[in-house]
Parts: sequence; C-alpha cells; structure tokens
Amino acid sequence: MSYLLVIDQDKRPLDPVHPGQARQLLSSGKAAVYRRYPFVLILKHRAPEPHPQPIRLKIDPGSKTTGLAVVNDATGQVVWAAELGHRGEQVRGGLLTRRRVRRGRRHRHTRYRQPRWRNRRRPTGWLAPSLRSRLQNVLTWVERLRRFCPLGAISVELVRFDLQLLQNPDIEGLDYQRGTLFGTELRHYLLTKWEQRCAYCSATGIPLEIDHVQPRSKGGSDRVSNLVIACQTCNQAKGDQPLEAFLADRPEVLRRVQAQRKAPLGDAAVVNATRWALYERLKATGLPVESGSGGLTKWNRTTRGLPKLHWVDAACCGPSTPAHLHLLAVCPWLIQATGRQKRQMVNVDEHGFPVGRAKGPSRVQGFRTGDLVRAVVTAGKKIGTYVGRVGIKTDGYFKITGRHGMVEGIHARYCSPIHLNDGYSYTKGKAAPPPQA
Ligand SMILES: [Zn+2]
Repeated sequence: MSYLLVIDQDKRPLDPVHPGQARQLLSSGKAAVYRRYPFVLILKHRAPEPHPQPIRLKIDPGSKTTGLAVVNDATGQVVWAAELGHRGEQVRGGLLTRRRVRRGRRHRHTRYRQPRWRNRRRPTGWLAPSLRSRLQNVLTWVERLRRFCPLGAISVELVRFDLQLLQNPDIEGLDYQRGTLFGTELRHYLLTKWEQRCAYCSATGIPLEIDHVQPRSKGGSDRVSNLVIACQTCNQAKGDQPLEAFLADRPEVLRRVQAQRKAPLGDAAVVNATRWALYERLKATGLPVESGSGGLTKWNRTTRGLPKLHWVDAACCGPSTPAHLHLLAVCPWLIQATGRQKRQMVNVDEHGFPVGRAKGPSRVQGFRTGDLVRAVVTAGKKIGTYVGRVGIKTDGYFKITGRHGMVEGIHARYCSPIHLNDGYSYTKGKAAPPPQA
C-alpha cells in the first residue's frame, strides 16, 4: 500500500500514514490537503514532540528515468515511490536549434552581432546543460521529499561495478553462472568489458559464457584478468588448451585478447560524471549517503524475485536493503520534468526570423501557463466543469487541456487553482506484479 506523507501544523514531517488513517484524518476534519503532487496532508494541530521513525530515500539514477523509493528499513515497507522522467534530450535539442538559427543569422551578414569565441572557459566541475538538468531534477525531489517525510539516510546507485569486490575474489568454489553476488557482479563486469560479444569470434546476440584463458586444470586463477567472455562454441572448441595454442592460426585475435584482458575498465566506464556530481551534492545535504553498485542492485532485485522497474531498482539499491521488501499495491508516481518557461522572447521560424508577437506577461489574473486548475463554467456556451492544465492569454480567456481534451475561451473568473506549475507533470503508475519466488 502506498503511504501518505503528513506534516504537522508547524510543517514538520511526521511518520507517513496508511491510506485508511489518512481518510479518517480528513473526514474527521483533523487534517487538510496541503499539496496534491506529491500528495501531502497537513494536520490542523501541533504534534506533541514528534519523533518520527527515520526512513531512507533510495535513488537509482538513469539517463532518461530515475527511480525513487522511500523505504522503511525496519519494516521493509516501500512507503512512497516514483519514476522521474528527465528532459535532457529536450534541453539538448533546444540548444542545438538555437545554435543553428544563430549561425544562420551570422552567415547572412545581417545586423546580428559577430560570434564571440573567447568566452569558452568552463569552471571545474562543469556539466553539460542536459546533464545538469537531470542532476537538478533529482536534487529538487530530494529537497521536496525532505520537507514532507522524515528522511534519515540516502542510498544511491553510484558505480556500475564494485571493483573492490572484483579484485578480492577470495571465495572458495565460485559459481560463475549463477548464484552469488560476486558471480552477478563479475558477469556484469565482464560483459561490459568485452562489449557483450565473444572474445574469440566477436559473435553477439547469443548466450555468452565465462571462459578461463589459462584453464583452471592447468593452474589458471579466478582473477578477472584470467577471465573472458566467449560463446559456447568457442568455449568448447578451446577446451583446456592454452590461449596461444587455440589462437595459433589467428595472431591478430590473440594480440587483441591478450591486450584487452589485462586492461582494467576505465573509471569513466565505472562511474560517470553525473553520478559523481550527484553523489557529492547528496553528501552536501548532511544526510548519511550510502552507495551501491549496479551489480548489487540487480542481485538484490533478482534474489527477491522482483520485477525490473526503475522504482523497484531504486528500492533495491545499496547494501542496507531489507531482506523483505513490501511493495504490494504500491503505486509509483510517474513524474515527468516539463520545464517551466522559455527565456526566448519571441518565436522564430526555421530561418531564425522572428514570427508572431513578443512574449506576453508570464502571469495573467494570478495564473501561469501549466497551472493545474478546475474551471466551473456557469454561463455561456461552455457550461460545465473542466480540470486540466491552463494555457494563459492576456485577455483572460484561457485554454484548458485535460482528460476532456482541449477547450478554449474559458475565462479566468471560472478557474480555481489545484496545483501550481512546478516544472513537472504527474500521473499515477500501476502497482508492480507480485514477486516471483
Ligand atoms: Zn565465439
């Protein structure tokens, strides 16, 4: 069951409540709705010395979607979950369009200013705008959740592989194909290192196995540098021959395999810049931050029989993951970053010439484009109730887009705000299927 976030009269976060209790609080008039997205209740009284049980926010950062889950470590209950969709592609596309039309204008020798070339200095820690947008999305939600639920710690999937674990395989009787956490981590690492293809024949899209370069029967070790990924045919053809004998007629393959198996994965392939930046910024919140590897997340998820979803991955990241995760009937929020406004003052056509009029005021009669409103129209041709996102016009006759489709010419006097535009759109997702044992 998804729990509901509650704050007290002084806006201090309290323990999230069960939906039944929330309904009771609302119907008895002890609480009111403070915010729609995320849904937060506010108590109409001051909680006497609240000592909420600290809960953990878990994050699985992704390039398109980031999974968020708030988990109670003591009970294993997933309290709140969301999938946060980023708009990195849009940011990038917008900048490319701007660059294109600017170039076009300069090229035509109009009165547009000359390009400047000496303003290219980048501060240390600079991230591309599309990446910064993703980072800021996650930080925004960390801050929001901190205001509404008693977060005591953060877990984040930082690295793709746990290199320390891979370098110390002092485990007897390893089973590489299935089973151990080490096995999962190792397989994942090797597949990435060998680009998901057979080391000997470069075949892709077929089942791949782990092969010992120097066979174990001939004293070969289990170290990562002695392991390659091979298809079943090559693996069997090689058998327990040494590598030099197996590849005697293919010297260029031999050279490539020898070089690649010794080379460790670069840091960039293990932790990317955005994740590092996120990790640093999360540490700056003052909450204890725990980091986990991608292999650990996968291990946690598969051993618990959970489906592959972004928010479930988030709930599974980090070594602190409880043995039993309760996510029955937990419906995640699907949050999509939409941006707020444009800085561009006027639209341009494909050649970069201004079209239409300059941008109007951003606020008309108290409303901004993107606010979620309810309009109850009592007179005229458009009598009815409309709920949706508003598009403002200076004359006060707005456009409302919602489940009913798009309706135009609704005057501001009929509208009342439900949720002000905060740069995100929200839909309710479906609950995860039950765990497969
Ligand atoms: Zn092969």
